[in-house]
Amino acid sequence: MSETLLHVNDIATAYGNIEALKGVNLSAADGEITCLLGPNGAGKTTLMMTIAGILKPRRGSITLRGSEIGGRAPRHIVEQGIALVPENRLVFPDMTVEENLRAGAFSRNDATDVDRDVKAMFARFPVLEERSTQNAGTLSGGEQQMLAISRALMARPKLLLMDEPSLGLAPLIVEDIFRIIRELNEDGTTIFLVEQNAHMALQVAHHFYLIEQGLVVFDGIPGEMEEEEVIKRAYLGAEV
Ligand code: ATP
Repeated sequence: MSETLLHVNDIATAYGNIEALKGVNLSAADGEITCLLGPNGAGKTTLMMTIAGILKPRRGSITLRGSEIGGRAPRHIVEQGIALVPENRLVFPDMTVEENLRAGAFSRNDATDVDRDVKAMFARFPVLEERSTQNAGTLSGGEQQMLAISRALMARPKLLLMDEPSLGLAPLIVEDIFRIIRELNEDGTTIFLVEQNAHMALQVAHHFYLIEQGLVVFDGIPGEMEEEEVIKRAYLGAEV
């Protein structure tokens, strides 16, 4: 049994009077891919932003290897070892590919290792090296997603949060992105993934959770339940 890396306990987050998370409990085991599925508006992005420190929870606790990080500043959370690949990629469009990568290392002060990591990203994603001096806004959607993933990896995270990495991408590119997710995990990165593409997500996940209206309603291990049933539950709220 793997050790728990991330533990989310009774997290509630609101936008004014709208309580988007109503007491979420879940965890991500060290070395695994954990996936969060659920319909639009269920609170998935809100949870990612809360873990990353961009939104402050109203109550509850978030721990990374037992240390409390809930409500701390985003920079502190990056320094503790969590990096976010945000929904819709959000690369800096007017900065070059290389500048975007270096921006991902903002919390580090080991310049030589940062140079080495930029080279490692270029080796993993040759298309980024080819386009290293181009502005990120000129890249295709798939290339921007690779850049967003690499930028997050530049922080050398223990835990990578990925919010809908396949959103808006063509099927072949989606396959590429999931291959990358699997490879990163095999190389030792723990991944917490939010996805609309349940079919692909369940192929890579070790453990999944379903969220509905701000609450986790189910969790399981892919393969223990028919995929169709998981998808019905996740998106149609069907009882199984
Ligand atoms: P999607 O798959 O559509 O991205 P989601 O599961 O990520 O959905 P959230 O974006 O976290 O869901 O939204 C959860 C709830 O919070 C929804 O009811 C949404 O309308 C509300 N919400 C999200 N962002 C804001 C905001 N900035 N202001 C007010 N309400 C918001």
